[in-house]
Amino acid sequence: MKVTVGSAALALAAAALLSGCSGDTGPAAGRGAPAQAKGPQARQAAEQARLAAAARRWGLDRAPLTPPPPPARKPEITPRDGFEVDGQEEEDLPPVFTTVPTKQKIVFLTIDDGAEKDPDFLRMMSELKVPYTAFLSNYLIEEDYGYFRRMQALGVTLDNHTLTHPYLPGLTYEEQKDEICGMQAVMKRQFGKAPTVFRPPYGNYNGDTLRAAKACGIKYAPLWDEEVFVDHWEYRDWDRSLHPGDIVLTHFRGRDDWDGTMVDDMRRFLNKVTREGYAVARLEDYL
Ligand SMILES: [Zn+2]
Repeated sequence: MKVTVGSAALALAAAALLSGCSGDTGPAAGRGAPAQAKGPQARQAAEQARLAAAARRWGLDRAPLTPPPPPARKPEITPRDGFEVDGQEEEDLPPVFTTVPTKQKIVFLTIDDGAEKDPDFLRMMSELKVPYTAFLSNYLIEEDYGYFRRMQALGVTLDNHTLTHPYLPGLTYEEQKDEICGMQAVMKRQFGKAPTVFRPPYGNYNGDTLRAAKACGIKYAPLWDEEVFVDHWEYRDWDRSLHPGDIVLTHFRGRDDWDGTMVDDMRRFLNKVTREGYAVARLEDYL
């Protein structure tokens, strides 16, 4: 299998080089620089070869698919049916949703909490260029903000998952607001920016949650349609399959919590989405 991937990448590289030599009449050729004309294709082929090598190094069946460019016009995000609260529309509360409307074969990876801080995971994701969004809870990250700053420097968006990860519907409006606004303040201080995206712990919320979130500057409250564990997948929907635009959840967990590492978890996630023809896109590009 691994040999096949390598050969495919080489074949692709060869094809790209050939087409670059076959009399390019594209816009670049007009500038009278044939060397430049084949530049982008050669670079793309080299990048594909690099990705294939990284995929082999991290034990993937094949390289992750490249997502399409961000949409020129962002889709309109509305609450999932049955996930609205009273006053949702009238008060313009942040929508709770599990899928982003798109016809493209993409999924969004979101990773929650922040217990495990695995440097190999950071390396794997940046070598494979897989985008993801982190939902952080302060009580788990305060021992090592530096790890998440490194993640942010690699292009990952860090979002709000409360200060202490409580069951929010069990709290008053004021208490919920302290949890959400308090985390906004921590994130502003530690990472330079208060997020506009928030995920309630356990996916549990009520009207006060969304009102408090809005008061703290939150615009979106994404949940998830599938959850990946190191040894299995769980599905929200009866059809037990991926759909275009699905948001996938996993957690910053390692051997303390389950039988494997973050790298093992990501291998399971990436092998399945790639096998099914999905690319991983960046959630913020669609919000
Ligand atoms: Zn959580």
